Amino acid sequence: MVTQEHFSDQFQPIRSQISQRSLSAVLPALSSALGTPCPTAVHGDPHACQTALAMPSVRSAIVIVVDGLGFHNLQLRIGHAPHLRSMIANQTQLSHHPASILTCYPSTTAAALSVFGTGTCPGLTGMLGYTQLNPKTRKISQMIQFRGAIPPTQLQRQPTVFEKLTQQSVRVTSIGLSEFAQSPLTAAALRGTDYRNVDDPNERVRLAAELSSQPGLTYLYFRAVDKAGHHAGWESDEWATALEQVDSLIGYVTLHSAPGTLIVITADHGMVDIDLNEQIDTASNDALSEGVWKIGGEPRALMLYAHRGATAEDVDQIAQRYRSVVHERAHVLTKQEALDANLFGPVDQRVKPMIGDVIVMACGRVTIVNSNAQTEGARHMPGVHGSHTEMERRIPLIMDVVD
Ligand SMILES: [Zn+2]
Repeated sequence: MVTQEHFSDQFQPIRSQISQRSLSAVLPALSSALGTPCPTAVHGDPHACQTALAMPSVRSAIVIVVDGLGFHNLQLRIGHAPHLRSMIANQTQLSHHPASILTCYPSTTAAALSVFGTGTCPGLTGMLGYTQLNPKTRKISQMIQFRGAIPPTQLQRQPTVFEKLTQQSVRVTSIGLSEFAQSPLTAAALRGTDYRNVDDPNERVRLAAELSSQPGLTYLYFRAVDKAGHHAGWESDEWATALEQVDSLIGYVTLHSAPGTLIVITADHGMVDIDLNEQIDTASNDALSEGVWKIGGEPRALMLYAHRGATAEDVDQIAQRYRSVVHERAHVLTKQEALDANLFGPVDQRVKPMIGDVIVMACGRVTIVNSNAQTEGARHMPGVHGSHTEMERRIPLIMDVVD
């Protein structure tokens, strides 16, 4: 049986933050496909994105983000997704492109949805992970609910592609949970739509199909797969059941939308299942806390903040101490090395202080936690993501035009 170990953990300097075959290019490509190209700070040529992603030109499109549905997670359990399986088969027959692209680093929802919504990169959106330093308060903030964070529109200043389309009088409808309508993450990453509160997922796809007869774009988001993955792991029955449900909702959209509608399915990140035997606890090893003032990010993607006044040499020593403990279980970069490797894409001056002085990217089934600061629930979560590996960064880009 193929498992997640089959996929490489090799870290390579990242060009994909600004690649046209990445999550940041999806909405710019769609804007071009709809005849109203919206260049972004990273993608100046939406038509080139459309070509690179082999996206047909249409009047109406539905874009679906399935939270946590990595391309390899999907492929390894494709038996639970008959609709997606046949869409992938058709697509690979028609185009020479694989039905996948890459998400950003870190491979996590707050960062990736912002990359998707703005068509840019974490270095420009300032949405750098699950948690990150708020330089104004000098505290760690959580970026899903924006606990302790800079308010969403002050932090995330890139215009969204949805806003740009709306300014060009294109219909942009978002159909989602009422709890997300006014959420700070929506305001940061996905603002500028006509938001329809629909809590029942069956009703959501019904409305999306109905609206597809009108020109424009509809955005749908499903979180069940991510939730099941965090709760039970992507190798679980619970995850498979969530995938089956999402697959059948997608089947409904493809069957009931107006002829000529482009359906695009993607995700914010994939997932790996953890091995508790491979967990590293920073609280139980002095070498991992020495010189470290605060830790942000998440267990697969840490940002270590050094004490105020730390010199470049101090930071190098923190990185060296981590390397000497983790060996091949994680990749460790100083902030400068991360910037040189383009890890967060081009970085705004104002965003630089929010990035950790040392970046730690877990490999394999490894997680790096702090038993003093994190609950057991958080440390023992069976399915996680955030790091740079294929499993986490490879996401689907599945497209179909309704006949
Ligand atoms: Zn997610």
